[in-house]
Amino acid sequence: MISFTEETRQKAFSTQRKPETVESQGLPHVRFHVEEAHLIPAGERPKKFLEAFAAILKHTNYRFMLDQYSRVSAKCARCSANCQIYETTHAPEDVPCFRSEMLLSIYRRHFTVGGAVKGRLTGDVGLTEEKIDELADSVYNCTACRRCTLECPMGIDHGLITHLARWILAEIGIAPRALVVSTREQLVGATGNTSAIPLPALQDTIEFLEEEIADYKGVEIKVPMDVEGAEYMFIAPVSDWMMEAETLMGCICALHAGGVSWTVGTQYYDAINYGLFYSDHHLEQVLHKVEAEVKRLGVKKILIGECGHASRSAKFFYNVFAEQLNIPVINILEVTHDLLKQGKLKFDTEIIKEKVTYHDPCNIARPGWVIEQPREIIKAFIKNYEEMTPSGRDNLCCGGGGGTVSIDELRPYRTLITGRRKAEQIEKTGAEIVIAPCANCKKQVRELLEDNEVPVELVGLHDLIYKAIILSDDGIAWHDPMGDDDWTPPDA
Ligand code: SF4
Ligand code: SF4
Repeated sequence: MISFTEETRQKAFSTQRKPETVESQGLPHVRFHVEEAHLIPAGERPKKFLEAFAAILKHTNYRFMLDQYSRVSAKCARCSANCQIYETTHAPEDVPCFRSEMLLSIYRRHFTVGGAVKGRLTGDVGLTEEKIDELADSVYNCTACRRCTLECPMGIDHGLITHLARWILAEIGIAPRALVVSTREQLVGATGNTSAIPLPALQDTIEFLEEEIADYKGVEIKVPMDVEGAEYMFIAPVSDWMMEAETLMGCICALHAGGVSWTVGTQYYDAINYGLFYSDHHLEQVLHKVEAEVKRLGVKKILIGECGHASRSAKFFYNVFAEQLNIPVINILEVTHDLLKQGKLKFDTEIIKEKVTYHDPCNIARPGWVIEQPREIIKAFIKNYEEMTPSGRDNLCCGGGGGTVSIDELRPYRTLITGRRKAEQIEKTGAEIVIAPCANCKKQVRELLEDNEVPVELVGLHDLIYKAIILSDDGIAWHDPMGDDDWTPPDA
């Protein structure tokens, strides 16, 4: 059993829990500060923050949300019962509405008549440097999982408030280095993707995967590249091509078995969109890169690989920022499920013998979008399945949501605080394998299993599909590349 002791609390909070100011060129800035061009002289950040806030209010419809939430917030704290961070720490600053109130109070004080009058009467000086530091620290301790929203009787979406606060902060240069550096390479770098993987490296990797599939599955499959007019443009988190080979091979095998018309684009091949975590401006720019590739290839639909934030950012924002295309965005689990229902996928049900459980990524499960599909796929070839409690829309976050998984300095906080309940939940199922069909969740769950010493293997759903799917006419799921009849597949 995982226990949360005072010692673990100290260990988790000793790293990056509180705001730290460091000196750079004689100017103070919080640890997230990254862009030299954004360095703002001491004392001027409140003014710059309010200017950025005003510009965002002018050019977006966030004002409606802030007006509404400012009016209805009942401060009943029911949301705290659903926040796994508060449930772990019981710290007042981790009550979801406490965090949201930081931004709402700035809004009321500086952007409403009543707030301005009240400020004058009470002598409230308004936004200060210290409040900016507190806000920056707080919104990057929230995983934007939106579980608290399920419990709020007033429908307040704390994930959305966190999202807006991070954007305003980013406009004055306060954003996590890891997210900004990756997005900069994606938008203006030579490779045009977050992992800086050049096209020849991607092509080499794809050739390697094709050889692996030929060896172990007994069929020759060519990954379609730059096929104009294909039904789907398949786009995975680019890091998956290097780090999650079995997930990608599972996707390739399922699409091949289903006879799907699909392609990978060579001019843009990264589904990651960290703009979702810190800047609507960057979110839009990344989506325009996807849009350009869709237009170039003339494909009919966008197919996102195993990734929650990439799927959500494309599905819910693509048609906002590229509305003239009005093209459907589909997650790979939906397509694989559809192929299963059409009877196009055959599995060896004896391959996966271990007890398996499934983690719902927040970005695809919380909106109720992808919940039943993966379960039906799992039950088609895995006999020993154990559901986590709670799950589906009510799932617990992996603890690395909202981009925090990319911030390595936050690892102890992520694995010992935000992800602690997930580790306990996985351990309780008694499973030997946990499926997490999301690039971010995979990294986080691997780390939290390691840090909490829970001996469970982490895989994507298509990793297991790759093992069990039957592609060759002989009905055998795994072939020995050396022709040895007594050979058994690895880890199967
Ligand atoms: S549950 Fe909703 S109304 Fe109640 S404190 Fe939380 S955010 Fe405010
Ligand atoms: S979005 Fe998630 S982490 Fe953030 S306050 Fe709500 S429940 Fe807690």
